[in-house]
Amino acid sequence: MSKQMEPMKLVFTSYRGSIGMDGLKVSMDRHSPKLCSHPTLNYLVIPTIRNLNPANVERICTAVLDNNWNLIRDFIDEVHELGIRQLVLCCWCTKEQIAQGRFCSAGIIGRYIQDKADRDKEFEFPVEIEYGDGREVL
Ligand SMILES: [Zn+2]
Repeated sequence: MSKQMEPMKLVFTSYRGSIGMDGLKVSMDRHSPKLCSHPTLNYLVIPTIRNLNPANVERICTAVLDNNWNLIRDFIDEVHELGIRQLVLCCWCTKEQIAQGRFCSAGIIGRYIQDKADRDKEFEFPVEIEYGDGREVL
């Protein structure tokens, strides 16, 4: 396999879940835990959403992703070009909170990027999405 065609893996997990993982780690929340040095990827930060029904929440997330898509794509492209094959995207939500129904944008963002890769052929390499710390159910 040529280097340009090697798959890029995107892992969505918690800060806790990212401990010990390989790859470039970034934060999808504006504030990351103390002593955590993951830079925040501002174009993936979803504004705080309260008291909205799920359809409207999904609409807001999709609007943010649509607006920022070029930046998101260029970032993933650049990381891949640097030879990094795993990008770990972290947020605060814990497995327990997600199991209790807390909203987590990881599922919407993961599906959005997967569609861009598979349906719209936005990348020249395959993109694999993986969910950790309870995000598999999103
Ligand atoms: Zn989350």
